Amino acid sequence: MPLLKSWVESANSAQSPFPLNNLPYGVFSTNGQIPRCGVAIGDMILDVTSPEFQKLASGISNSVFAEPTWNAFMKLGSKTWDAFRTTLQDILGESTSADVQAKLADVLVSQASATMHMPFDVVEYTDFYSGRHHATNVGTMFRGAENALPPNWLHLPIAYNGRASSIVVSGTEVRRPWGQLKPPTAETPFFAPCKRFDIELEFGTIVGQASTMGEPVSVQEADDMIFGYVLLNDWSARDIQAWEYQPLGPFQAKATATTISPWIVTKAALEPFRTSTPEREFLLLAYLEEPGPMLYDIDLEVSLLPDGGNKASTIAQTNYNELYYSAAQQLAHHTTSGCAMRVGDLLGSGTISGPEKNNRGSLLELSWGGKEPFKLESGEERSFIEDNDTLTLSAHCAGDGYTIGFGDCVGKVLPALDDPYKR
Ligand code: CA
Repeated sequence: MPLLKSWVESANSAQSPFPLNNLPYGVFSTNGQIPRCGVAIGDMILDVTSPEFQKLASGISNSVFAEPTWNAFMKLGSKTWDAFRTTLQDILGESTSADVQAKLADVLVSQASATMHMPFDVVEYTDFYSGRHHATNVGTMFRGAENALPPNWLHLPIAYNGRASSIVVSGTEVRRPWGQLKPPTAETPFFAPCKRFDIELEFGTIVGQASTMGEPVSVQEADDMIFGYVLLNDWSARDIQAWEYQPLGPFQAKATATTISPWIVTKAALEPFRTSTPEREFLLLAYLEEPGPMLYDIDLEVSLLPDGGNKASTIAQTNYNELYYSAAQQLAHHTTSGCAMRVGDLLGSGTISGPEKNNRGSLLELSWGGKEPFKLESGEERSFIEDNDTLTLSAHCAGDGYTIGFGDCVGKVLPALDDPYKR
């Protein structure tokens, strides 16, 4: 599919992250007003709560956008999702009447003047561990090369249940946490600020349709339940994690914050970029078999900007297609127990690393546990995140004369408090 042309000129550049082919959903505010739902087009946002738009979007009641989240819209289901997208592509397309263009031009807001908010209400959060290179690298560091992948890893997508309350939108500052630490050299544990604070380059899958308790879903049904995707940075305290994780997995190490990008890129926008999961080392059980390509070809990048620096350094580049399990497989597996999935459920993909050193989606891997610090463009070295570093995840799909962007997933790490128990 080529670039679809819009009368919003900025959407027609091959480099624009938000052409008519994309149309991601977010929540924005301007001038301190109440946040509201909007759609990105070029460098503008279409306010879908405006009366001008509401008159054109027949079939969608005003009450759907009464709350500043996309949950009520998601609940309406895929037929409505498709019809709404068709309406948007019609009215924002270049052949729209001059009259409609004039009316809508009045309710476009420039992205530069908007503050972005959480695009949906995260009702539950599960973080998977489906990046094979990442799992192998971390396993090698924590348990040795011969035990790198746990015995279950090639048979099922493993995960832990995270905290919905920890999810924040891009731009939110993240405070370095304190926690219980016990480095191998210490005889007894102690309570101190995390010294090995890290990122995890992940994708977030947003579940847009619920499943029924007691009724597992197939991979195809799971894919049909998915509404869209965001970038996701699962901030990780590696020293807290190394001490606490056995045998139940990460807990406080992953609970400080998880940042998501502000725009929900719909499954519909990603259709042209579908690609298959990698070849299987073991045949998967039938319930995990994929009926078609369930991953996407999405280029990913991580950059780090030191405090006061004027240029961010790219520290990693990889692709979403490096995952071993697709989001649809993760979601299907999640329901095998009879667990019900809800509208607004968020699934983290697991850290996405590739085979090469510069493809690694965490500082833990980039610096090999701190043993091999890497250099920034300024010449400074990093093993883990330092205070006031800003980390940015970005993603794009390269289409035929157009780009699908996600909006950056940014977070600055503030110094730990002097004493978190002193208020
Ligand atoms: Ca993670």
